[in-house]
Amino acid sequence: MTDSDFVQAIAQRLTQIRQTIPDRVRLIAVSKTFPAGAVRAAYEAGVRDFGENRISEAIAKQEELQDLTDICWHCIGHIQSNKAKKALQHFQWLHTCDSLKLAQRLDRLAGELNLTPQVCLQVKVRPDPDKYGWTVPELLDSLPQLNNCEHLKIQGLMTILPLHLTPDETLAAFEAVRDLGDKINAQNYPLMSIQEYSMGMSGDYQFALKAGATQIRLGQAIFGARG
Ligand SMILES: *Cc1c(COP(=O)(O)O)cnc(C)c1O
Repeated sequence: MTDSDFVQAIAQRLTQIRQTIPDRVRLIAVSKTFPAGAVRAAYEAGVRDFGENRISEAIAKQEELQDLTDICWHCIGHIQSNKAKKALQHFQWLHTCDSLKLAQRLDRLAGELNLTPQVCLQVKVRPDPDKYGWTVPELLDSLPQLNNCEHLKIQGLMTILPLHLTPDETLAAFEAVRDLGDKINAQNYPLMSIQEYSMGMSGDYQFALKAGATQIRLGQAIFGARG
């Protein structure tokens, strides 16, 4: 494929995807493993939100794309505690706040850096030993402390589902995330209001949309199969 074929393929896939998602849903193009040129191609096709799961990879692309000043970068990978500061400096949205310890560290560093990042809490509504994230009871127990993280804009819940769920199980799991958000909001914490649901990837986003996702994270559906 030539470069211009690649750019055209991305634009075409985006046109098709946009026909299936409501305008209110934020489409995050997950550019991990794809080069800066792929980000530029999606940008030219109108995308402004990009997701990366490795901080060093994101920084390298950001350096190449400095002329694109209105990109909103989303961190969608696990944040090691020694990378928390870099994550705050290089992403506007952190989707993967997955423990109280990390939340409190991000809060302290955000205060020092005078930043107010948008944060989603990564939750596991189905058991999944391979993934990071809060279980429902852990999260409910931590709400009072999370409400004290005054430098974080805790706005949303994020989830990645375990592999091999049936379609019915997939929909039910996404709905359980919505229900958890409603449950959190019913407690009326002043600094925490769940408005955003970051859920759905290339393989399952239609179910996530049905369950009320407000942000979907698509990689392969936009950029083609990852090698
Ligand atoms: C890679 C990744 C995605 C995108 O996956 P695709 O299958 O390429 O759409 C979405 N969310 C997270 C957290 C990811 O790591």
